[in-house]
Amino acid sequence: MARGQGEGRSSTVPAALPEPVALLVGTLGPDRVLTDPDLVASYRFDRSNDPSAGWPLAVVRATSAEDVRRTLQWASAHRVPVVPRGAGTSLAGGSVAVQGGVVLSLERMRAITIDRLAGVAICQPGALNVEVKRAAAAEGLWYPPDPSSFEICSIGGNVATNAGGTCCVKYGVTTDYVLGLEVVLADGRLLRLGGRTVKDVAGYDLKRLFVGSEGTLGVVTEVTLRLRPQPPPAVTMVASFADVADAGRAVSALTATLRPSALELMDQVSVRAVEAQLRMGLDTTAGALLLGRSDAGGDRGQRELEQMVACCRAEGALEVFWTADEEEGEQFMAARRQAIPAVERLGRVLIEDVGVPLPKVAELVSGVAAIGEAHETTIATIGHAGDGNFHPLVVFDPLDPQATERAQRAFGAVMDLAQQLGGTITGEHGVGTLKRPWLPRQVGPEVLGIQRQLKQLFDPLGILNPGKAL
Ligand SMILES: Cc1cc2nc3c(=O)[nH]c(=O)nc-3n(C[C@H](O)[C@H](O)[C@H](O)COP(=O)(O)OP(=O)(O)OC[C@H]3O[C@@H](n4cnc5c(N)ncnc54)[C@H](O)[C@@H]3O)c2cc1C
Repeated sequence: MARGQGEGRSSTVPAALPEPVALLVGTLGPDRVLTDPDLVASYRFDRSNDPSAGWPLAVVRATSAEDVRRTLQWASAHRVPVVPRGAGTSLAGGSVAVQGGVVLSLERMRAITIDRLAGVAICQPGALNVEVKRAAAAEGLWYPPDPSSFEICSIGGNVATNAGGTCCVKYGVTTDYVLGLEVVLADGRLLRLGGRTVKDVAGYDLKRLFVGSEGTLGVVTEVTLRLRPQPPPAVTMVASFADVADAGRAVSALTATLRPSALELMDQVSVRAVEAQLRMGLDTTAGALLLGRSDAGGDRGQRELEQMVACCRAEGALEVFWTADEEEGEQFMAARRQAIPAVERLGRVLIEDVGVPLPKVAELVSGVAAIGEAHETTIATIGHAGDGNFHPLVVFDPLDPQATERAQRAFGAVMDLAQQLGGTITGEHGVGTLKRPWLPRQVGPEVLGIQRQLKQLFDPLGILNPGKAL
């Protein structure tokens, strides 16, 4: 990941920079523009490892909205593609570099101000999610959205992808917290949308259009986020099942009657991968584990816990364990968050992000297992089960062409299955580069046409993150 790389190295302008890049360096100053190929190389990829990443001409490390404005004005004048980049943790190829373009990194814009009385955080886009959480907690407040990458991803990236996470089943996703945005358009115009007001219906809600737009409509330079009071400590349940489909049925039963504060699933492959890394005594013989939490507190929390346990037992849970110890509960959540890095140790991974209506969860997870068998490919399934949002992780050996081809077919088959079940190809990671082939069928020609018209309106020259999302 690029964050922090290049710090302390002087950035000099090579003699033979292409003329437009020399102009950019002249406009912003050499401390804000990296052109050294070794440094530029570290901004080419994101966590999707999409091999289609191009070589950028330069990397702008903006320190202010004014830097962003000037970069976009320059890019419009010279027709240079711009890839906005937060922390580069995209799993969809959203922040991979474009050949001959410029990467616009927001990693140095990290300021956070808490307005306690208004109950909001005003953040620059490069602030990490965890930094926003900490700043809010210092004032007795809470910023809920918690992608499993919350310690390494930026709030600007969260807004641009409309990131979800483990507590979103009860508390909603990023868009539910965005009260205001400052956005710079492709031509350098700066828009201020919304603000610190809780309710605001003056005109079309353009800020929601930018949330989830994957850096294709504008660059977010400030975000105003709504905060909440801290919830009571959570109780945590872990249930093991012989089969992933049983766990899937428990999810549907549970969410039909209850809104837990987290409901996460790990199948056997992912449990084994995490256990091999963390050695914390997870049940590696079970077909799947379900982690459920209630932060309702007091008697209500106890009732919710009993309801979760009853649902799991009714669907054939082998064992159910629960704890009111926050630290112990957090260890199980940390194990779940470790699943992607742990499975990545098994080979190259294609990461899915499918979502289905809650009654279809069992069909999805058992269908994914069947796809793995049919394609002779290992698929580890984890997911924000309470949202019906799953990340089947298709594992393969990139040096084996046949295994690679089988994995790619399995990857497509999982998205086809989600669509057949009335679901979506992406619940929270975005379309990026990796899911583009499936988008037309997902949204249909009319919707795609309107999306393209919107893109044309905001970015007529098509310089913002081309080849992504649409
Ligand atoms: C181990 C792991 C676990 C993860 N778990 C989750 C999870 O639980 N839930 C979830 O939703 N995601 C998850 N992710 C994916 C990723 O962390 C999120 O998509 C995150 O929101 C990306 O933030 P980022 O700062 O890294 O953005 P980047 O990767 O830098 O960019 C992502 C997209 O946002 C755009 N962008 C970034 N900043 C801006 C800006 N300021 N203005 C305009 N566009 C911008 C980029 O162009 C790109 O399209 C996980 C990733 C990893 C590696």
